[in-house]
Amino acid sequence: MPHVVTQACCGDASCVYACPVNCIHPTPDEPDFGIAEMLYIDPNTCVDCGACVTACPVGAISAGHRLTEGQERFIDINASMYGMTRSGAAGPDIGLTEARFPVDRGRRLPLAPIAHPDALDVDGAVSVGIVGSGPSAMYAADDLLRYPQVSVTMYERLDRPFGLSRFGVAPDHQSTRSVMRLFDDIARNPRLEIRLNTEVGRDVTLDELRRRHTAVIWAGGAPTDKPLPIDGADADGVTSATSFVGWYNDHPDFADLDVDLSGREVVVIGTGNVALDVARILVRDPDDLADTSISATALSALRTSGVRRVTVLGRRGAEHAAFTLPELVGLVDGGIPVTVDAQDLPSPGSTTDPTSRTKLEVLAEIAARPVPTGPHIRFAFGRAPREITVVDGRARGVVVDRPDGFQELLDAGLVLTSIGYRGRPVPGLPFDADRGVIPHDAGRVRDESGPVPGMYVTGWIKRGPSGFIGTNKTDSGETVASLVDDLESGRLPVRASSRRSLLRVGRR
Ligand code: NAP
Repeated sequence: MPHVVTQACCGDASCVYACPVNCIHPTPDEPDFGIAEMLYIDPNTCVDCGACVTACPVGAISAGHRLTEGQERFIDINASMYGMTRSGAAGPDIGLTEARFPVDRGRRLPLAPIAHPDALDVDGAVSVGIVGSGPSAMYAADDLLRYPQVSVTMYERLDRPFGLSRFGVAPDHQSTRSVMRLFDDIARNPRLEIRLNTEVGRDVTLDELRRRHTAVIWAGGAPTDKPLPIDGADADGVTSATSFVGWYNDHPDFADLDVDLSGREVVVIGTGNVALDVARILVRDPDDLADTSISATALSALRTSGVRRVTVLGRRGAEHAAFTLPELVGLVDGGIPVTVDAQDLPSPGSTTDPTSRTKLEVLAEIAARPVPTGPHIRFAFGRAPREITVVDGRARGVVVDRPDGFQELLDAGLVLTSIGYRGRPVPGLPFDADRGVIPHDAGRVRDESGPVPGMYVTGWIKRGPSGFIGTNKTDSGETVASLVDDLESGRLPVRASSRRSLLRVGRR
């Protein structure tokens, strides 16, 4: 049986380059790549060689016959993107007739993993400083270190490296967290030094870094959360999901977060993957989390939790839910108790987008099940938060506007706002305050007068808080390509010694 991409897909596209028959799409140069919720294997073209399994850094690909319980639905999810059923026959019986990547083998050229003999033609050694050590920083370093004359120094504020892959990914998403093994490998390169406990702006200035290095890449991420502009949002008992994630992931900044789990009801505002993560952690059996990397404080708080229901609140309809299909399937087929009101759901046929349609089908399946009796997640769509009710300084509920014009009060002992991350301005660098990003041209930092010499940017602070861990590979690839181009064209001066031309050694 052909291979199948499953929930943990990180989108770094290593599998695309490893596949000898080009059966994994979208590829980074196809238009859908930037918006795809995962990558998909064409079951008719897959030759079952397993090269993609080896290449995937998070163990997301499996031979069809080796799928574990709860993963079977991914056979259809992969096939449907090519307009097929799991038997390989073209046909509408799973309701998905519009193939995203139409099968046309005549046009698909096999993509062998060919080494690119690019030359880096510069005078002398190149030293690059990278601020941050999260996924975008690690992928940038990996790309740079392919050139033997490049050395990289990373500056990390915290006492442990790898950013969101350590402090952002949920502890029960162990496959996704395993990307840290790849980052460990990259970190072993003797030409990479990671300086921990080193905050740029406190321990060293950006100007010093720019004098010290040939180039500096800012990869500081989007470390804060978008504020929710409604009354009561600053009351006790209202916390951002990003802080809550930091708390259960042992992030030192959130060790003392005030998390009160004594109430029966929690409301999570927002329907993104972060909302699903926090809701799932709140209703999971703590015994299932005991062997994970969850912080001891969070585990002991969850063991005595009184929470019975977590309402995930979407201000728009279910067809606009921000969570991805793999995460919804992982939740539902992973045995997490979930419920949703059938009356809140439009018919799956109301959308032509195959991914949204499958999401609505899965939600309709949930709506047909009995409401769970134990701790569970409830999706409430089409309810825009208007105000958080506060009694004696503490949040007690969320007032929402419903589509029928009425208001509704949802009880809540704890409110988690999960409405997206946001970048912070960096002193000394330009900032687009509307988008919360550093303005750039293909990764070259740009202010009103043009490119800022020797200064580059990558990751969430470059493109905004979107995509998956592996999305940073393509993003950082673009930034490093600009940096290399500037070196070779002489726009980025290198402290001179001998002129060398060295081969680029392979690609991952
Ligand atoms: P997100 O996907 O951007 O979702 C934000 C949610 O907040 C949306 O439902 C949005 O609704 C809602 N929202 C925004 N402003 C609001 C307001 N004023 N009032 C009410 N609701 C509001 O953000 P995220 O969940 O933080 O995720 C960030 C990125 O990380 C995403 O790319 C995500 O896929 C990724 N991530 C991935 C995983 C994974 O793969 N397992 C895990 C975590 C995060 P509207 O749509 O109506 O604006």
